[in-house]
Amino acid sequence: MKKLSQKIDILAFGAHPDDVECAAAGVLLKHIALGKTVAIIDITAGEMGTFGTPETRKQEAEISSKILGIQYREQLGLADGSIENNEASRLLVIQAIRKYQPEIVLANAIHDRHPDHANAAKLVADAAFLSGLKKKETFYEGDTQEPWRPKAVYNYIQDYFIEPDFVIDISSEMDKKTEAIKAFRSQFVKPKENEPSSILGLLNQIKSTNSIYGRPINAKYAEGFTVNKYIGVHDFFQLS
Ligand SMILES: [Zn+2]
Repeated sequence: MKKLSQKIDILAFGAHPDDVECAAAGVLLKHIALGKTVAIIDITAGEMGTFGTPETRKQEAEISSKILGIQYREQLGLADGSIENNEASRLLVIQAIRKYQPEIVLANAIHDRHPDHANAAKLVADAAFLSGLKKKETFYEGDTQEPWRPKAVYNYIQDYFIEPDFVIDISSEMDKKTEAIKAFRSQFVKPKENEPSSILGLLNQIKSTNSIYGRPINAKYAEGFTVNKYIGVHDFFQLS
């Protein structure tokens, strides 16, 4: 019988290869260490990026995936720089959600420097809801997919500062997160001179942001997230 799904715990979407690493690699590493399974979907191949080619970025994403220890990674093939929240793109995202049946979905920042990020955030949130509708029909390898609605969609925070709704301590994961980001070598090294361009600057910015998010919870580093509905907890003592 054909395998119609590869159930995983967390499905992280990024508009471009490296978005997930820059903004949420710490929480992914943390949950993988807890025994959770993770897949990453790169919505575009990042073909409009100033540096690197879709091929080099795909290879780099594979190296990073190994560093992170994720189960699956794939690309949806939407156009970099032109991500639209339309019927065709929603169907692709719904297909991916139904294929992986995640409890938790991560998506880009709700507003950010790159316009693709906010567009991807809305696209994924809408698709996550529609994916739960029985009458919304999608197919995977010729077979009808079952409806699936994730428990929550959380938006990570990337280039622009956004006040997070919650943060997660990633102090122990920061070194490996840095390693995963460095895997995207083409994005940070000038191809001709082979000189570092912005890797140190970017890593410093990411560490500074993660340090700011960590301060209120007495953590050296934390990643911040926003929510699109209230967070419910059982009691006060679950909160730090
Ligand atoms: Zn991006």
